[in-house]
Amino acid sequence: MSGVRADYHMHTHYSPDGHCSPRQMCLAALEKGLTEIAVTDHFEFFTDGLFSDGKYQTETLAACYQELDACAEEFSGKLAVRKGVEIGQPQTDPDRAAEVLAALPYDYVIGSVHKLKDIDLGLVDYPDEVIPGRVRENLAMLYELADQYDYDCLGHLDIIKRYAAVHGKKIDLMDWQEELERILRRAIERGKGIELNTSGLRQAAREALPSLKVLKLYRSLGGEILTVGSDAHFERDVAAGFETACEMALEAGFRYLAVYQNRKPTFYPIA
Ligand SMILES: [Zn+2]
Ligand SMILES: [Zn+2]
Repeated sequence: MSGVRADYHMHTHYSPDGHCSPRQMCLAALEKGLTEIAVTDHFEFFTDGLFSDGKYQTETLAACYQELDACAEEFSGKLAVRKGVEIGQPQTDPDRAAEVLAALPYDYVIGSVHKLKDIDLGLVDYPDEVIPGRVRENLAMLYELADQYDYDCLGHLDIIKRYAAVHGKKIDLMDWQEELERILRRAIERGKGIELNTSGLRQAAREALPSLKVLKLYRSLGGEILTVGSDAHFERDVAAGFETACEMALEAGFRYLAVYQNRKPTFYPIA
């Protein structure tokens, strides 16, 4: 087992792209030796791309929430089960985003950018000549999110590299350091954190999101709030890559990781 004992990013079958029940994810977490999880099913804004109907999402998140309460009771004393949500590009519909977050008392909110305008980052192509424009657009959306919206941690900051890697292209956000710093500084200023998302390790990018360099930059700017999440969509991926995440966090200068309850962070030492 790694020094990371909480998995703070995972999806159940209440997300359109998840495959397991909340209970299955809890059992997987226990098997991996974790003591805490946050289930962060999707609420995606924009009607194109991955998900369709906002009403469907609201109802399913409420159903998931109920099931998580039952899991919290069943696994009490062994596994803390926190209720989260991953909000995708809330700036698309700010009023609706505020409504979604007010509808249920979440413990933890990940703010993510999965799309450019109406298109999922995974559904556009990455010819060399358009990459700088795509990255700038992505960074502008991330800044807007960091600056104005309600979230606890920014999700998978350099996720664009995951999709570029599928097309054999490498994107390193450190090449846009000024824009990146602006996002990180603003999050820090607002008392928000970022996550270290291990999904990239098992995908074409072969690197966690964000990279060690970005993590070090965040730390050097005074960033202290860091969660670690697998972004598991299957039970087998719960806590995947956590040994690497542990090494990365330590190397970047973190000695504590954050967990949340009622949207308030507390910290545990990385063992
Ligand atoms: Zn995401
Ligand atoms: Zn996710």
